[in-house]
Amino acid sequence: MKKEPFVTYEQLQEIVKEYHTPFHLYDEKGIRENAKAVQEAFAWNPGFREYFAVKANPNPFLIRILREYGCGLDCSSLTELMLAHALGAGGEQVMFSSNATPSGEYAYAEKIGAVINLDDITHIDFLEQTLGYLPETISCRFNPGGIFKISNSIMDNPGDAKYGFTREQMFEGFSRLKEKGVKHFGIHAFLASNTVTNEYYPTLARILFELAAELKEKTGADIRFINLSGGIGIPYRPDQEPNDIYAIGEGVRQVYEEVLVPAGMGDVALYTELGRFMTGPYGCLVTRAIHQKHTHKEYIGCDACAVNLMRPAMYGAYHHITVMGKDNRVCDHKYDVTGSLCENNDKFAIDRMLPKVDVGDLLVIHDTGAHGYSMGYNYNGKLKSAELLLREDNRVELIRRAETPKDYFATLDCFDIWKDLGA
Ligand SMILES: *Cc1c(COP(=O)(O)O)cnc(C)c1O
Repeated sequence: MKKEPFVTYEQLQEIVKEYHTPFHLYDEKGIRENAKAVQEAFAWNPGFREYFAVKANPNPFLIRILREYGCGLDCSSLTELMLAHALGAGGEQVMFSSNATPSGEYAYAEKIGAVINLDDITHIDFLEQTLGYLPETISCRFNPGGIFKISNSIMDNPGDAKYGFTREQMFEGFSRLKEKGVKHFGIHAFLASNTVTNEYYPTLARILFELAAELKEKTGADIRFINLSGGIGIPYRPDQEPNDIYAIGEGVRQVYEEVLVPAGMGDVALYTELGRFMTGPYGCLVTRAIHQKHTHKEYIGCDACAVNLMRPAMYGAYHHITVMGKDNRVCDHKYDVTGSLCENNDKFAIDRMLPKVDVGDLLVIHDTGAHGYSMGYNYNGKLKSAELLLREDNRVELIRRAETPKDYFATLDCFDIWKDLGA
């Protein structure tokens, strides 16, 4: 399928008159339509809730849009919990799915009433020592180990993942929590990331539903929810078939009817913690080609770099690139599209066939709406970009300004750079 930007060349030319490249641009319309579809796909389950994975995109303006569709928030750290709290989410609307968790973060999560999802059996005592008691409701994260396959294709390797309780630990953990007075339970697992198949959730659901029925039978635990977590992917490549969230919801419903209902668990709520699927396709990184270099290869040097989008450098991830205004030309030039870091992995694309690029061209790097801006860092003293929101009525709003040198130096309390610069 041809990948088209959600913004036109004409719109973008107007936007760059007001805002300097690089910036991330988000598509309100796309976010809304998708959030609505997710709610519809799981509407058959009365307790359903999507907890948006804040780490994917912690911009409060985007989170507010998702909140309109009933989304709760899945947090992994103190600052994410603070953001959730500031946005008015509390109690059961916040899931705290952390690992290697500092005690202060558990204390804050409890203070705002978040549901705590334990990553390890030793965290039972750690949490009890931290709070002086255990909350009434606790969730535990399951890791079956081994290799996770869907009809013979390897999806991921849970046996190598640091997260979760083993199967035996789930039984032991539930029994101990119950003895200690915990009343309600949840089960969580995240077994594969960025899955582009409608089979992932139904397969995971079967594993968790069967485990839940057994846990209930053997420990007598009152299981209130099952959290399928994140992992529904998006088609980064033009040749990938997008997931069909309605087919996924229906696939999970069938397993629910088959496994949970006969086990007398037809009232269990389903939760998800989607990040990438909620915002990934509805963001792009807009950058300008500012250099061209002809050496052993052909290079396009951009004004964005891995600080703005780390996925290609970190995982070799593919992000589609559109050269704006040249959409109908043939892709007969092979380029490495690079940023300016002193790191040879700072390349948005390697050996990518594109139309002939000229200095000054605007490039749209697709699918940066999740794990894009938020994964950024400040290597080489580079500053993080602005974030803009393209509203449904085509207005553009600045939803986070770009960093300035002042932000970069702000933590150097004992060194006044401005004085030394004579400023
Ligand atoms: C990262 C993460 C998510 C979101 O993952 P996506 O791939 O963005 O859907 C959800 N839950 C937990 C615990 C995570 O670590």
